[in-house]
Amino acid sequence: MNLLSRILNRFTPRTSAARPAPQSVSISGGDGDALTIRAGWIIDGKGGPVRQNVRIAVKDGIIAGLWDAPAEPEGSAPEAIPDFSGCTVIPGLVDSHVHLTMRGSADEELRKRLRVASYESIRRVIGDHLQDHLNHGVVAVRDGGGVRGYALRCARGYPGPVCVRAAGRAWHREGRYGRLIGRPPAEGLGVAEAIRQDGERGDHLKIVNSGLNSLTEYGKQTAPQFDLSEMSAAVKAAAERGLSVMVHANGAEPVRVAVAAGCRSIEHGFFMGKDNLARMADKGVAWVPTVVTMSAYARIFEQTGRNPDVARRTLDHQLDQLAIARRLGVTVALGTDSGSPGVEHGAAVIEEMQLFMQAGYSLPEAIPCATVNGAHLTGGEFGLIEPGRPATFVIVEGSPSTLPESLKRVRAVFIDGIKHVEAG
Ligand SMILES: [Zn+2]
Repeated sequence: MNLLSRILNRFTPRTSAARPAPQSVSISGGDGDALTIRAGWIIDGKGGPVRQNVRIAVKDGIIAGLWDAPAEPEGSAPEAIPDFSGCTVIPGLVDSHVHLTMRGSADEELRKRLRVASYESIRRVIGDHLQDHLNHGVVAVRDGGGVRGYALRCARGYPGPVCVRAAGRAWHREGRYGRLIGRPPAEGLGVAEAIRQDGERGDHLKIVNSGLNSLTEYGKQTAPQFDLSEMSAAVKAAAERGLSVMVHANGAEPVRVAVAAGCRSIEHGFFMGKDNLARMADKGVAWVPTVVTMSAYARIFEQTGRNPDVARRTLDHQLDQLAIARRLGVTVALGTDSGSPGVEHGAAVIEEMQLFMQAGYSLPEAIPCATVNGAHLTGGEFGLIEPGRPATFVIVEGSPSTLPESLKRVRAVFIDGIKHVEAG
């Protein structure tokens, strides 16, 4: 049995649909039915200090109240309150850049086989990846495209609980990078016209405007795939269809063009430089730096006897850019590019958050990047723990000092007041 069959067989017994079958328990069902949770610590996602000993009231899927522990509500019986006093509560996480149809394996043969596997097989793979995300506290993902648009197709029929926003197939210029995640416009058609005529409507649009980073020549940059007038027309055509645009862009010029054209977010942005970061801060363009991809390449190269120096230096450079982005106030959303070689769905969020902290983000600063900033990109109301917001949060063992590693041991994940993961 080959590796792909073994992996697909492993998924088959789990569930017949893409949706995993979590133990879902409604805790906020009927009239007046509310639940109060005792939390040891809360990081609310607004960037402020950690709060200690807080109660969270949940009613009808919404956070109904939040108060310090001594302010016990009238008539509440403390013994009836689920006790998470040894745990930290954070908003549900968002991975703002994933490829659900791809595995985080470095096995090129497996990756190739997945690219041609049937939709039914891929649907099971996607279901497995979404369960991996959920198990690490990720409640929403933003897919950056695939060669056949299967993530979008699957998302359309996927009943949850993870919120999936997918681009479908990305756009790239004929003969340039992007074949593995999208398609070029039909011959003789500009990218804007191709977008207008496209029958496939995603949740957002993905355009590829540079090559990949070189793993053998440090800092090598590629020319933009589309010039400013083409990219501006494409962003306009997307806006006419109600779609924001995420742009894959590495290097100063490809990023400059995308930002000037009015894109919503820059994906990757390696070697984009400080001027671009300043422009992004000015214009409110979000950045999804996908730092962990380079760390994964360095690791794979070390394990396989290839020279990891360029990957390591590129990683360091991206961390420097992230430190600049933090100082300039760029809106940064955490995205892992999971499905890239060595970048596992769900688990990669932990390392990406660690890398943010290595670049100078405090934990309360890194959490909004992994929650509310991503929620904005996906159009979600979740991402903050405050009254009136969806009761969508993650409970991890231990104090905040155990984060982000404690995301390996998620105690519970609530989405709209419903518990989807429960451990311990
Ligand atoms: Zn990607």
